Amino acid sequence: MNHSLKIFNSLTGEKEVFVPLHENNVGMYVCGPTVYSNVHLGNVRTFMSFDFVYRALKFLGYKVRYVRNITDAGHLTDDGDVNNDRFVKQSRLEKLEPMEIVQKYTVDFHKVLEIFNLLPPTIEPTATGHILEQIELTQKLLSEGFAYESNGSVYFDVLEYNRRGLNYGELSRRNIEELFANTRDLDGQGEKRNPQDFALWKKASPAHIMRWASPWGDGFPGWHLECTVMSTKYLGNQFDIHGGGLDLKFPHHECEIAQGKAGHGENPVRYWMHANMLTMNGQRMSKSTGNYILPMQLISGDNTFFEKPFTPSVIRFCFMQAHYRSVLDISNEAMVAAEKGFSRLMEAIKMLNEQLPNSTTSTPFTKLLIDWKQKCYDALLDDFNSPILIAHLFEAVKWVSQVKNAEESITSEELQELKTLMNAFVFEVLGLEGEQSISGRSQQLEGVLELLISMRMEARANKDWKLSDKIRDELLALGIQLKDGKEGTSYTIN
Ligand code: AMP
Ligand code: ZN
Repeated sequence: MNHSLKIFNSLTGEKEVFVPLHENNVGMYVCGPTVYSNVHLGNVRTFMSFDFVYRALKFLGYKVRYVRNITDAGHLTDDGDVNNDRFVKQSRLEKLEPMEIVQKYTVDFHKVLEIFNLLPPTIEPTATGHILEQIELTQKLLSEGFAYESNGSVYFDVLEYNRRGLNYGELSRRNIEELFANTRDLDGQGEKRNPQDFALWKKASPAHIMRWASPWGDGFPGWHLECTVMSTKYLGNQFDIHGGGLDLKFPHHECEIAQGKAGHGENPVRYWMHANMLTMNGQRMSKSTGNYILPMQLISGDNTFFEKPFTPSVIRFCFMQAHYRSVLDISNEAMVAAEKGFSRLMEAIKMLNEQLPNSTTSTPFTKLLIDWKQKCYDALLDDFNSPILIAHLFEAVKWVSQVKNAEESITSEELQELKTLMNAFVFEVLGLEGEQSISGRSQQLEGVLELLISMRMEARANKDWKLSDKIRDELLALGIQLKDGKEGTSYTIN
């Protein structure tokens, strides 16, 4: 197989041949969620885009160290106002400790990603678990003249960085003079020498609960700093891939580059990857505008945007039909179309895996199959092009029906090869979950219920009413109702 992976690098604006720093190994960092509220479907799209990248890299034979952080401190809605700490605000609203907010929404985040079959990263560090490292890097930036202390806070000095020829704005292609001209002096920014300077460490007001001791007094770290510290701690001062949503390019990723170059003397990232946004009915999905849907609302059908519920695999299939760098708009029509496409794909896989006839004579099919395999690989190698890959998979769906209708014939070796590849691309690389695994799971559930019903029968035969009632009541609490009849006990699941 011809392997030459190309990645669109946001830093250069070009598709480049991917050469990892250490042969066959990839270090990848993706900015994780700020865990102060439920993830919406837009957030899921970005994490799914990088799940696909991770799966594709592994499929292509790379050993990947995949670090995705949890932002559990320090993400202010605006750098200048410490009263805008998202965790503190939310904890007041919900009358919970900030760390209860963190726990609640970290659990939600993991649950949601599991529902969509996203693989966990290999390391998932938290900002609060790396306060010491953040203080250390701040000290280093101070001692090297890239930062200054002001009223208990420490800021990165963007002008000084540029004075040393380091080029703030290289990722977002922004010109620093323009930036200065366009910035209003926001409330509380009087502490900064320049409005573009950003906080490395923020002083905590007496009422601010999330606080840590530092050489500059009690405070908390800046949001940009945590990603620099956690990425370089686990992947080295320079590493292969850094990903995140397009909206994080500026200022977050621009600041990460500045901190890395100033703090470690190296451009931290070789390939910057930015995933594009999810829109709904043409408008960007976002909590603040109200144009958002929670994943469970789409799965359960409990929402006002869509006419019916959709399964997680249909949603994943819909997302995978768009390239990660394109905007994706979800609407009722798009979801219904995705549902049709997904079920055609699943039917073909089922047929392929279970009942396709094969012939012993050799056919011109072999050459077709070799070309097809190369085309599928090429789609992956061309900047992880999932829609093109899916288009090729549908070519195979057509073959399957031709073979089934005896319009084409296929040898058993060819059939085996097609089966292996289709299953790998659909389940391993695209991360879709077939009816196979869903029906496998329901078979298991059926088995467990039969077992509980027979245990209850035994308990009743022994006049152990306490146990038999316990089984009935606890199943009921889980939404499973047992019904005793002449034929035995049956159940309904709500
Ligand atoms: P946050 O928790 O706000 O830091 O966001 C987590 C991730 O979701 C970031 O990488 C954002 O870029 C991404 N994100 C936010 N809104 C959308 C959207 N509408 N579509 C795709 N990704 C998004
Ligand atoms: Zn980040």
